[in-house]
Amino acid sequence: MSWRTASKVKWLELLPGVSEDEPLASRTSFGIGGPADFFVEMSRPQAIEEVIDGCVERGIPYLLLGAGTNLLIADAGVEGLVLRVVNREHQVDGREVRAGAGLKMMRLARIAADAGLRGFEFGIGIPGTVGGAVYQNAGCWGKELREVLVEVEGYMPGAGAKTWSPADLQFGYRTSALREGRLKGGLVIEAKFQLERGDGEAAKALMAKLTKERNETQPIKTKNSGSVFKNPPGDSAGRLVQAAGLKGAREGNAVVSTLHGNFIVNEGGATAVEVRRLIERIQAEVRRRFNLELETEVEMVGRFKG
Ligand SMILES: Cc1cc2nc3c(=O)[nH]c(=O)nc-3n(C[C@H](O)[C@H](O)[C@H](O)COP(=O)(O)OP(=O)(O)OC[C@H]3O[C@@H](n4cnc5c(N)ncnc54)[C@H](O)[C@@H]3O)c2cc1C
Repeated sequence: MSWRTASKVKWLELLPGVSEDEPLASRTSFGIGGPADFFVEMSRPQAIEEVIDGCVERGIPYLLLGAGTNLLIADAGVEGLVLRVVNREHQVDGREVRAGAGLKMMRLARIAADAGLRGFEFGIGIPGTVGGAVYQNAGCWGKELREVLVEVEGYMPGAGAKTWSPADLQFGYRTSALREGRLKGGLVIEAKFQLERGDGEAAKALMAKLTKERNETQPIKTKNSGSVFKNPPGDSAGRLVQAAGLKGAREGNAVVSTLHGNFIVNEGGATAVEVRRLIERIQAEVRRRFNLELETEVEMVGRFKG
């Protein structure tokens, strides 16, 4: 049953800065996906909280959007309201760094290095926001966000403002209680990290080195969503895709990268249906050959059929 009633639509139309049928493809790193029924960008935490509470009270579906770097949005778009979180304030106080959920991890990695702090260099590999990175326990080069996180200022619709410790967030490999646990539906407003004092120039040199290596081994400059699959325990999804002979496999304009098997690239004009078909084909082939289930790291959202 549709959530749409005249009074709900009217309420959405009256939100400051809202737009209707707003294209989302350009707001994702895949460059794929249909429009949001309603779309708004917000930075003020209180305003974000009020709008989400308003959606929950009225039964209007909503999706929080960060930088759109871990999402495959359906061709038919997203129901209800898409709220892009853009609070980007940050503050460095000794070894402690606070960052709004909308700040990019890459930017925060540079801010930390500029302040002579070490331990956040891994952030240079994550093109998403702090909010998306907490949700996902993002990480790379053997380091995860949970290792430097002290606490999160969050908001649980209907239950108000919350401070969550890393234990509350129940982090796992590319997951947290926000993604699939008891905090599902919760919002990250701000995160606090604790880093180590050190040589900022050394941090920058390390980030430059890691970025260079990554550019040589992953199709970073293409339209993609990073790793499509989680690595199964003790193995790598990229290795399995390659061993299954699927590098370069194609569905329409969606192609498995020839540089790295765990990346699907939108060569231009690929649809979400094509990407999903390619994902399912890879899962089926890896299952058939290796009796292994590849779980997706990328999240599929919106009006997918079936
Ligand atoms: C080239 C490339 C390389 C990548 N490399 C890595 C890597 O090395 N390691 C890694 O972990 N990931 C990597 N990623 C994936 C991605 O950058 C991360 O998963 C990132 O954390 C997603 O953040 P985002 O802001 O883009 O979230 P989005 O894609 O916008 O959203 C993802 C999910 O987070 C939720 N969300 C967003 N903001 C909030 C918030 N404020 N509160 C609650 N929920 C929220 C959304 O609702 C959605 O469910 C890569 C992606 C690309 C394109």
